[in-house]
Amino acid sequence: MKFDILTLFPGMFSGPFDESIIKRAKDKQLIDISLHNIRDWATDRHQTADDSPYGGGAGMVMKAAPLAAGIESIKSQSPLSTVVLTSPHGRRLTHSVAVELAEKPGLIIVCGRYEGIDERVRSIYAEDDISLGDFVLSGGEIAAMAIVDSVTRLIPGALGSIESAESDSFGDGLLEYPHYTRPPEFKGLTVPDALLSGNHELIRKWRRKESLRKTRALRPDLLSRALLTREDRKMLTEIEQESPHDM
Ligand code: SAH
Repeated sequence: MKFDILTLFPGMFSGPFDESIIKRAKDKQLIDISLHNIRDWATDRHQTADDSPYGGGAGMVMKAAPLAAGIESIKSQSPLSTVVLTSPHGRRLTHSVAVELAEKPGLIIVCGRYEGIDERVRSIYAEDDISLGDFVLSGGEIAAMAIVDSVTRLIPGALGSIESAESDSFGDGLLEYPHYTRPPEFKGLTVPDALLSGNHELIRKWRRKESLRKTRALRPDLLSRALLTREDRKMLTEIEQESPHDM
C-alpha cells in the first residue's frame, strides 16, 4: 500500500511514523509512505503556498496551483492512487471507511492548513474527503496520521502475533471486551474468574458476553446493526435479566 502525503509540515510525521506498528510495516515493505512538501511545487521566489481569501476576512487560503502540480506529479507516478482530502466536511473516519481505504492500491492524502484549500482543488481532484469528527484541527496532518495508522493495522501482516485486529473493537461490529493483566488483585478489585480458569470455552463465552454487554451499554446503535448469532441473542437476554434497568 502506497501513501503519498502532501503537507506544508513534513517534519510533523517523524515520530508517529517512526515507531511501533507503522515502522514495522514500513520495514516489512507492507506500506510505503512518501512525504511531499507542497512548497516544492510553488513557483515564485518565496515558494508561496497560501494567499489571502477572495471576499476578504481573516486567515489565509492554500493556493490551487502548487497543490494541483503536486497532485498531478504524484498521480503520474501512482496512477491508481485515490486522492483523499482531509477536512471537517468529509465523511467520518470509521472502521468501515478504513476497511474501504485499505482495499485501495494507494492514497494521496492532502493536508490543509490555515482556512483550508482553494475550493477548485476539491472540484478537480478530490475522490474522497475524510473528517476525524465534528471539531476543527489546525491542519490535516493529524487526520492523515489517523488514516495511515487505522488503514495500516488492517493490512495483513502489519500486526504481529501479540497484537490482533480480529477481536478489536468494530471488527465484528461490536466493542471489544475488557482486558486484565497481572496481578490478580489490584486495589481490592479482582480479575473475573473465567479469565483465570484456563478453560478456553469459558473464556471465549465470557469475552463474547462482555463485548455484548459493553456495546449494549455504551453503543446500542452498533448493537442494532451487528450480525448476532443465536448464542449472542441468548447472552443478551441474560444481560437484560442481570441488569434490566440500564440502557
Ligand atoms: N476553515 C475550515 C477549517 C480549516 S482547518 C472550516 O471551518 O471548515 C485547516 C485544515 O485542517 C483543513 O483544511 C483540514 O485539512 C484540516 N482539518 C481540520 N479539521 C479537520 C477534521 N475534523 N478532520 C480532518 N481534517 C481536518
